[in-house]
Amino acid sequence: MLNPSEEIPISALQHWIYCPRQYALIHIEQLWAENRYTAEGRLLHERTDGGLAESRQGIRILRSVQLRSSRHGIYGVADVVELHGGIPFPVEYKRGSPKAHRADEVQLCAQALCLEEMFGCTISEGALFYGKTRRRLIVALDDTLRHLTLDAAAGIRACKASGQLPEPKYVPSLCNRCSLIEPCQPRLPHSARNVSHWFARAVTSPGTPE
Ligand code: SF4
Repeated sequence: MLNPSEEIPISALQHWIYCPRQYALIHIEQLWAENRYTAEGRLLHERTDGGLAESRQGIRILRSVQLRSSRHGIYGVADVVELHGGIPFPVEYKRGSPKAHRADEVQLCAQALCLEEMFGCTISEGALFYGKTRRRLIVALDDTLRHLTLDAAAGIRACKASGQLPEPKYVPSLCNRCSLIEPCQPRLPHSARNVSHWFARAVTSPGTPE
């Protein structure tokens, strides 16, 4: 079991998979900027959050479920958890359509890891619902995805311990959709960027935003 101060919000895992530097800018440097993609995602969650639990066709549907795993040191909130014969089935709502990266799957897997500990069970799959396609994508929670998720948590802890802001890597398909492209300055040489005060905050920050 990990010390509570080492606990990681599930959103941080998602950001880390997208880009380690994005994780550090948001969760350590506490920078945030909104663009069209983040605004659409926020509006989608505002529509799905806070609904009441209900039952449909024998399936209990819980919304905005608080999650925590002491074993893995992660916590967060699931949009929807369906109970299929008592076994949780997490469903995460996403804007757009399925992506080339695995950040959404890692977020879902982290939710499942929490639910497994909370319910004392094994969860073999969950689903991502994409706003653009209006379809559920069933995600197998296999060993590869579980390792990717736990490796992300280990990478975050190592990053925090190092006090080093990850260097940017300009990847057009990621950076051009990233709301932090301006403060990140991924195309400038290292000496021209001005986020060097990160280390001081990293070692004094009382916590990270979810
Ligand atoms: S602009 Fe690119 S390198 Fe910088 S945080 Fe965003 S994704 Fe990462």
